[in-house]
Amino acid sequence: MADFRDGFCYPWTYQGFPLVIGSMVFVRPPRPREYPSPPLSFALTTMRTTISAAFQTVALTSARTVGTLLGTLGVLSAASVLVGLGATSALAQPTVDPTDPAYRCDVLVVGAGGAGMSAAIVAREKGASVLVLEKMPRAGGNTLLATGHITATGSKYQTEHNIHASSETFEQDVLKAGHGKADPKLVRHMVAHSGEALDWLMGLGADLDNVREVPGTKEYRLFRPTGCETVGSEIAGILLRRTETLNIPVLTFTRAEDLVLEGRRVSGVLAETANGHRFVVKANAVVLATGGYAGSQQLLSRFSPAAARELSSNSPGSTGDGLKLADRVDAAFTCLEDVLYHPTAVPLSGAILPESLRADGAILLNSEGRRFVNELAPSADVSEAIRENGNYAWLVVDRQTVQHVPVIQQLISEGLVYPAHSEVQLAAVMYADPYAVAQTLVRYREFVRKGADEDFRRPTMLSDLSDFPLYAVRVRPALHGTTGGVVIDTKTRVLDRHGEPIPGLFAAGEVTGGVHGASRLEDTALTDAIVFGRTAGEAAAAYANEAAKIHARNTRANDREKPALAGDVARTDDAERDRMRFAELDSANAAAN
Ligand SMILES: Cc1cc2nc3c(=O)[nH]c(=O)nc-3n(C[C@H](O)[C@H](O)[C@H](O)COP(=O)(O)OP(=O)(O)OC[C@H]3O[C@@H](n4cnc5c(N)ncnc54)[C@H](O)[C@@H]3O)c2cc1C
Repeated sequence: MADFRDGFCYPWTYQGFPLVIGSMVFVRPPRPREYPSPPLSFALTTMRTTISAAFQTVALTSARTVGTLLGTLGVLSAASVLVGLGATSALAQPTVDPTDPAYRCDVLVVGAGGAGMSAAIVAREKGASVLVLEKMPRAGGNTLLATGHITATGSKYQTEHNIHASSETFEQDVLKAGHGKADPKLVRHMVAHSGEALDWLMGLGADLDNVREVPGTKEYRLFRPTGCETVGSEIAGILLRRTETLNIPVLTFTRAEDLVLEGRRVSGVLAETANGHRFVVKANAVVLATGGYAGSQQLLSRFSPAAARELSSNSPGSTGDGLKLADRVDAAFTCLEDVLYHPTAVPLSGAILPESLRADGAILLNSEGRRFVNELAPSADVSEAIRENGNYAWLVVDRQTVQHVPVIQQLISEGLVYPAHSEVQLAAVMYADPYAVAQTLVRYREFVRKGADEDFRRPTMLSDLSDFPLYAVRVRPALHGTTGGVVIDTKTRVLDRHGEPIPGLFAAGEVTGGVHGASRLEDTALTDAIVFGRTAGEAAAAYANEAAKIHARNTRANDREKPALAGDVARTDDAERDRMRFAELDSANAAAN
């Protein structure tokens, strides 16, 4: 296992040829499946990655020991030559040391999930110099955990393959799910750019051409991999590969602690590494892509107390840091009280069983072995029905269906999914009455034969559950995400309480509110992250270009305003009152620690 605890790296899956330096192990990222390299460039890529990772790790440590850093620069030059020989990309950035006080990038992205990676890539492709901060040991965030689909309409892929999916219906469905609280302009922006986002991901090499219908609607807008990856690992993987190709530095174990201001303009971030080293990174534009707060007991207790008691499916990195940062510069917020539940979380593993598993044929049984809900009803309704049935249920699925679902395969290997070769065995697994279980299955098979669910009006029933072994897994509802966050416009500019953009600050993904409103249509969070991440990359790069000119002018005139930390700047009364929502939580955290 790699250990990047003391530094930063170009992180990716921990496999390949290890280079051991002291207690640290560096590995090269896997080669993109689609682009097998010839032996020479393969070797050079390996050297480039290991040397560059080694250099960067040493570089951070050497903020304390400058001599080591200087010694390493020789290695850096050699690495740069190898990068050139390896001919990765004309856009590749030179390796940098962001802890150097003289360092300034065009676009600083906080958070290396789907939104952050998309923003970083697009900004870099627009010619901006880019740096990404990620507080966790590895990039990916909640994006990496996604097990269902990404939704898109209007893609080239759909047009070329004559696949029906209406953008109008998609837009209406998102607005309906949001219970009147979504911002129609943001929804329209997401839907209008969803096809481009899908084409972009596929163009980068993502395997996403397994297209599926939204159950019972004839709308073919759900995409997932054909191969054995989950949608999240496929998308996170392809974005990380592109980030690596563009040589965009990603500082893992590095948390954004505060925003830096020059006047009212956000011009950087105060960062802190896991080992307590603090440094300011200056930037012409900052993109917040820190995800939601379904992993923060403190924020949930404040905004949605009932949710604070629930199991959470989210990455431990989802603690609402972006909200606290934006709050310090008087950003406006919306829908902070709105949370999402997923009905089928597996408590012992934290995995989520995607809705598609139910769409493909799985059913839900209560502790008595009886069906109790239309399994394809909206997540909130299924979650509520499970709660009313003792807060857990058994998801039952057949042999054929599980073969195509990586997350189930994983759970089988972990021993959390039980095979049953007969109805009696299935009942035994569930501690249920065998007669009740047999009766339930006979009745359900009859509905499948007739094509009509007379009990719960389930719209589609793709399996009659007669293909043994059947598999049973215990599931319960979990807190799955937050839809509230900072208010943005369609250019992803963060707006203040007066509706004015805060200069230099952009946000994308689950840190924002208003894209979904009170609730999120299934499988649209990835669309949100990629679409708005791309928009943020483009908008921040354009802004940074202008800001760089101003910065150069001000520096020449020597009248640059002194940078200040947002947390130290005095606020207006209104702003101060609202800010207390987050500030009190910070002091509570500090006391708890
Ligand atoms: C189990 C699960 C399954 C899901 N399945 C689906 C699905 O099938 N389809 C779908 O559309 N959506 C799905 N979602 C939702 C979707 O994955 C997320 O909403 C989306 O990926 C969020 O992307 P993001 O980039 O905004 O945030 P994230 O991917 O969470 O990335 C945020 C990153 O910011 C980092 N960060 C936070 N604070 C800081 C800080 N102060 N400094 C530096 N870094 C910081 C975090 O560590 C994290 O890496 C699922 C979510 C979960 C939890």
